[in-house]
Amino acid sequence: GVQAPYVLDCVEIQRSFGGIKALDGVTIRVRAGSILGVVGPNGSGKTTLVNVITGFYPPQGGRILFDGQDVTGLRPHRIASLGIARTFQNLALFRGMSVLDNVLLGRHVRLRPGVLSTALYWWWGQGTEVRHRREVEEIIDYLQLEGVRQEPVELLPIGLQKRVELARALAAKPRLLILDEPMAGMNQEEKEYMARFILDAHDELGCTVVLIEHHMDVVMALCEELVVLDHGSVIAEGPPELMRADPKVITAYVAG
Ligand code: ADP
Repeated sequence: GVQAPYVLDCVEIQRSFGGIKALDGVTIRVRAGSILGVVGPNGSGKTTLVNVITGFYPPQGGRILFDGQDVTGLRPHRIASLGIARTFQNLALFRGMSVLDNVLLGRHVRLRPGVLSTALYWWWGQGTEVRHRREVEEIIDYLQLEGVRQEPVELLPIGLQKRVELARALAAKPRLLILDEPMAGMNQEEKEYMARFILDAHDELGCTVVLIEHHMDVVMALCEELVVLDHGSVIAEGPPELMRADPKVITAYVAG
């Protein structure tokens, strides 16, 4: 059949920290509508890749195209406003704020602060605010967080906090959703819920997903395509069932 176009195209990305080449010429292409898994041992560059794509660390070489548009070096809020949302490996929720307010903040990344948007905001008035609020409430229901919507996030178990982060990312209505170890610290039941919600975001909300995971079994279950990183380089890519038997991959995991 006809292959979907690439929604994200990272070409020859370079990023070092001191003498460490965290990303050493990484090329990764993500097809629209796919779930791409990025795996690799600790320190292989997975989180750095997320930080580079989302503008937290500008790359020192290479190019990033989103929907054909060059987004290399754009600030995080610009990239977010173009339709890329992420979650963080170590939770980055706002402590002291409720689940609902955390998710509402996710929606507002798309409303860029500034004179024009302030004027528009005034002009649209309540109607817009009510619509945002309603859509955010729908996401909270969708992720089965309605029972804790007024709870301060830091009081929730880690599995639910991770789910709030997913809700906040989805509130931005992203076309590309980048999940950095969404199952870290979860028990088996929480992992199964999270897997279900990731599939729903893909199947029902139409998100293209990049899933960063340390554990091969999780990505095996969710991803159509895998990229394996080791020491800042792509050492293998393709369908997950082929990756499992690849000697380079096995060596990286045993050595890592
Ligand atoms: P992974 O997510 O696969 O565990 P990382 O991207 O976190 O790997 O790290 C890749 C390499 O880059 C590691 O050697 C790590 O120590 C280094 N690194 C990542 N971020 C920073 C940073 N902000 N400062 C210094 N070194 C960093």
